[in-house]
Amino acid sequence: MSGVFNCPFCGYKDSVEYSVLLHLEVHHSEGKSPFVADEEQTAAAAVAAVTAAAARSGVEATVAKEELTEYYQCPVKSCGEILHLARLDDHLELHNAENPADGSNPGELESGAQPSSSSSCSSSMRAQAAAMPGPSRAKPGVPAGVTPNGIPLSSTGGPHVKPSKPVRRLGKKELGAYYNEERMPRWLEDLLKKRGYKSSQGVIPVLAQLLQQNKYTQYAYLCHPETQHISKLRNEGSFCGYRNIQMMISYIVNTGAPGAIAFRNTIPSIFQIQDLIEKGWDQGIHEEGRIELGSLRGTRKYIGTPEAQTLLASLNIQWDMQTFKNLDGDPPSASENRMYDAVEQYFATAPGVNMQSKVRNTRRPPIYLQHQGHSMTIIGIERQPSGNRNLLVFDPSFADPANITRHIDNRRPVEHSHPDRALKLYRRGPRYFSKYHAFELMRYVHILSRSFFFS
Ligand SMILES: [Zn+2]
Ligand SMILES: [Zn+2]
Repeated sequence: MSGVFNCPFCGYKDSVEYSVLLHLEVHHSEGKSPFVADEEQTAAAAVAAVTAAAARSGVEATVAKEELTEYYQCPVKSCGEILHLARLDDHLELHNAENPADGSNPGELESGAQPSSSSSCSSSMRAQAAAMPGPSRAKPGVPAGVTPNGIPLSSTGGPHVKPSKPVRRLGKKELGAYYNEERMPRWLEDLLKKRGYKSSQGVIPVLAQLLQQNKYTQYAYLCHPETQHISKLRNEGSFCGYRNIQMMISYIVNTGAPGAIAFRNTIPSIFQIQDLIEKGWDQGIHEEGRIELGSLRGTRKYIGTPEAQTLLASLNIQWDMQTFKNLDGDPPSASENRMYDAVEQYFATAPGVNMQSKVRNTRRPPIYLQHQGHSMTIIGIERQPSGNRNLLVFDPSFADPANITRHIDNRRPVEHSHPDRALKLYRRGPRYFSKYHAFELMRYVHILSRSFFFS
């Protein structure tokens, strides 16, 4: 079908049929969509956008100055990430969790010292980190209303999205240390072409058993078990945006969901993703992205949710998006708690979910999560007896340890003496998120079967 599609209820128009279908779902269906902010929240978001705009210039100036001194290269051999000081401790602690006593040893320190989980060691590792300037992925606090790249948020997918502020070339803060490069080094290109990505499939059923056994878990939800954990290759640095896109596509391809054919049932490489994004710009989808990023092909420039949207929209794959940002007078954890609520509701409303079980398996797609400086893939959420909640994530910076992968496909029964410890690499809760006050969630949306409105 082509031409203009009209909403039969309110006259909303769009040239993309899926956009109108989604509009119907969002504005005219009885059930409340778990991803749609209610009116109160929308109004609050508008206030936040104004507040953020007023505060932005001052905040930016501070960050620009800090940028020269506050970034460090991760001291773990084979990692290669450049991190803001504020992220370094968490990052090193997770390298430790990646590196269980009884498993393989992927996270070896440059100095040869063995990582341990004590906090004093963690700060000594920080001291070993070589100071060097580096990137921040997003602006301080993703402003509600527009992303750093100027795409309206809390919006649903479709090529009709237009930027709402002047477009400019982005710099180091948004695109990373290599924001200006024309081509990545040859060794890295060869590495990525030869090895593609590191991946495990079947981790979610292992985590389900750990959660079931763990006395510090009250209940947990999990996404579709076919979602792959894709993580970085040794020394690749940071391609986290690409790795999260690949995880989302692993769900589409492995479940044969709409869009799988467009990907030829294969997870695209970093280079193919770059091609798809550039082709999307060629088609006029978020074409301002080309002004913001310049040429993307063959570079290490960071990409984020706007580029993920371009890619999906160019293949007619539907997505939606929600942002969470603290408002004036909110307690510091307000946006974080609203995000947990939305994620829990998203999984709790999955068809056929058994609310009586401790571990509640669903077939929902995973969610792409962006916060300042990093992105990861949400595969579930856990509530602990204390009432504390943790997101369950596949973080592209960390690979699955052997004490997890050896249980894949029930090769060995999952009987951990400390299931709580084995879950650590996959949990992100208040201790991690309290540093951030703005979050973006983006998810793949199945095409709605409501085309009878247009027949
Ligand atoms: Zn309407
Ligand atoms: Zn690292």
